[in-house]
Amino acid sequence: MKKALVCGAGGFIGGHLVNRLKSEGYWVRGVDIKTNEYGNNRADEFYRGDLRQPEVVRAVVTDDLDEIYQLAADMGGAGFVFTGDNDADILHNSVLCNLNVLEEARKKGVKRIFYSSSACMYPEYNQLDPDNPKCSENSAYPAAPDSEYGWEKLFSERLYLAYQKNYGLEVRIARFHNIFGPEGTWDGGREKAPAAVCRKVAMAEDGGFIEIWGDGLQTRSFLFVDECIEGIRRLMQSDFSGPVNIGSEEMIAINDFARMVIELSGKKVFIRNIPGPVGVRGRNSDNRLIRDKLGWAPTLPLQTGVAKTYIWITRQVQEKIQEHVTA
Ligand code: NAD
Repeated sequence: MKKALVCGAGGFIGGHLVNRLKSEGYWVRGVDIKTNEYGNNRADEFYRGDLRQPEVVRAVVTDDLDEIYQLAADMGGAGFVFTGDNDADILHNSVLCNLNVLEEARKKGVKRIFYSSSACMYPEYNQLDPDNPKCSENSAYPAAPDSEYGWEKLFSERLYLAYQKNYGLEVRIARFHNIFGPEGTWDGGREKAPAAVCRKVAMAEDGGFIEIWGDGLQTRSFLFVDECIEGIRRLMQSDFSGPVNIGSEEMIAINDFARMVIELSGKKVFIRNIPGPVGVRGRNSDNRLIRDKLGWAPTLPLQTGVAKTYIWITRQVQEKIQEHVTA
């Protein structure tokens, strides 16, 4: 039986990954500073601890592990990452987690380690045209991410690759592009655009309106979490280190994304565009490398994933309202 450690198991993607590894027959240890709020906690062992602390990392990174998946990061959506208010924490906290986990993996002789980077590391100058962004893996340099979150991801990619080069650790790096789905953060300030839009529409009254940050013409692609997990597993089983994009190529303007959710809701809801943190003008995954190296790329239509997510978030909203009523 293979043994894996999932760092960030209390989070959205980490929780889904734990479940997937369990269904594949792995023995799984999870670690996070918080437990998973939505019940994605099938790990055989869950350690509640802070990966910034070396003693915690010493306890969870053991020499019997076959694989480590490092997804822990101080992160959130545009309202957390692009305001500038959290930059020091984002850089300090996530770098510390990566430094500690990698060094302990080296000491304990763990063979293979996965690192979750982000499309936020791509240079802003290639993402100014909403209709024609460039995010091929080899376009990363000269580096110019538009956020400290992106700089941290870029630095940490280099850190992992240096450990591979100098210490022989087998490293696998993916650059995620906007992952969404059920059991993810949907309120509280760290939620990302897809969940925020679903929540706003779920809470809107028929004939009401929702607010969308920016002019709504900024473009993105969104990847359903199941396909992200599939990509992680395929990359981990391959002999390709990456970095490689794991994302969807179905690019959409944010206002059109909101219209998609509104249509699924069956309500008549209007969009009001307001100033807010938005990030780059355009971003889309470029899947040529993943197709070439893994013989696979995501295919699920955006609308299918959005429908599942909208249903789940609507239920969360209703449960929260119920709690308030009965409290
Ligand atoms: P998430 O916030 O749900 O999960 C991250 C988890 O890390 C959280 O549960 C958090 O508590 C934990 N964590 C943070 N600091 C920690 C610490 N010091 N010690 C222990 N645990 C700590 O986010 P997610 O969406 O599941 O993202 C997982 C990874 O994928 C992150 O590295 C993120 O940067 C990356 N990523 C995500 C997306 C996306 O769209 N969701 C896009 C690009 C990259």
